[in-house]
Amino acid sequence: ASQNSSTQVVILGAGVIGLTVAHVLSKDARYKIRIVARDMPEDLDSQAFASPWAGANWSPMGTYNERIYKWEKTTYDKFWDMIPTGLAIASPSRVFYEEGTNLNELWYKTLVRDFRILGKDELPASMKAGVGFKTVSVWPDAYLPWLKSELLARGVEFVRKRVVTLGEAAALAGPNGVLVNATGLGARSLIGLEDKDVFPIRGQTVVIDNPKVHEFMCTELTSCDDGNATYIIPRPSPNGFTTILGGKYQKDNWDTSFSAEDAQGIIERCAALAPAIKDPETRILRHNVGLRPARRGGPRVEAEKLDIPVKNKWLTEEAQSDKGTVLVVHAYGFGPAGYQMSWGAAEEVNELVNSQVNPNTA
Ligand code: FAD
Repeated sequence: ASQNSSTQVVILGAGVIGLTVAHVLSKDARYKIRIVARDMPEDLDSQAFASPWAGANWSPMGTYNERIYKWEKTTYDKFWDMIPTGLAIASPSRVFYEEGTNLNELWYKTLVRDFRILGKDELPASMKAGVGFKTVSVWPDAYLPWLKSELLARGVEFVRKRVVTLGEAAALAGPNGVLVNATGLGARSLIGLEDKDVFPIRGQTVVIDNPKVHEFMCTELTSCDDGNATYIIPRPSPNGFTTILGGKYQKDNWDTSFSAEDAQGIIERCAALAPAIKDPETRILRHNVGLRPARRGGPRVEAEKLDIPVKNKWLTEEAQSDKGTVLVVHAYGFGPAGYQMSWGAAEEVNELVNSQVNPNTA
């Protein structure tokens, strides 16, 4: 493409990944961006996508991996820079480990700020070892609409539509266009893709209001084979902050219904770390259930070329074509960590698009 012609980019999916990719790509005037999605950022009660249900903060998950370290470091720093806007808050944090863990070797020691090893007097009664640091969190209810408003101001279009096949989505981008596939769990059923490595991890949480519960805490997230993960995340809200208590971590479980038994278990496990949760002034604001869009083998951020007929209602008569090549950049499978990887992963998508679309102008 020449310098003054623009490339049509269709982003399929309006969760935190699709929106963040759009935010990064829309800084480049060469791209004309349209977001096509079934669930939109304002659909904050929809259990058909993951993004409304996240904590959403940076917390240690998995083990060291250079690429993911980069995505998370980028996002952590970006969220940190958002603190003055009120979209993000920093919280003191304590993460607890088994006795004997080599705490000085933890992979994220240089990713977070103010990392230190906790003294025995800083450990709740049931915990043997732990580290402290500062983490950052956002609140999906404010953060997703903020991303959308930024995008609208830059001329990004939003089209509500459920797409059935990958080809149909690619055709929306037109000949020589770009499709970013940010469909989360949708990647499992999108015909022509049907990535069977994609699976849900059910999460249930309890949102409370108690200003005394202001610290991020969690126990090491290793296998979660019992379907439990224990974490406490303070996140920004109009009156300062509220706190989300978690949670369940149930692989291959598609059940989006509320379980009172799960809620009771979450409150008990979290109160063992932060006893103030049991104070009479604690108000329970709501109970949430969401599905994390995970993938065996980890997130997929990868480009491929798709040859397909490109015909759609947005193209002029002359532009309709039986033959076209669409660059598809996949960006799905972020599981429990889509927020904390979002800015770094979006930059990688941007690099893939830049290098393959307009090599002469990049
Ligand atoms: P989604 O948010 O699921 O969005 C997918 C989009 O694709 C939607 O717009 C959907 O409508 C659209 N779509 C799918 N298929 C189609 C189709 N066929 N046609 C049209 N549109 C389609 N992450 C963190 O980083 N930190 C946390 O603290 C955290 N806590 C969490 C706690 C819980 C309880 C849960 C459930 C998740 C948590 N997560 C957290 C994970 C995070 O929510 C996800 O990783 C992230 O939201 C994934 O974003 P996404 O954009 O990939 O997918």
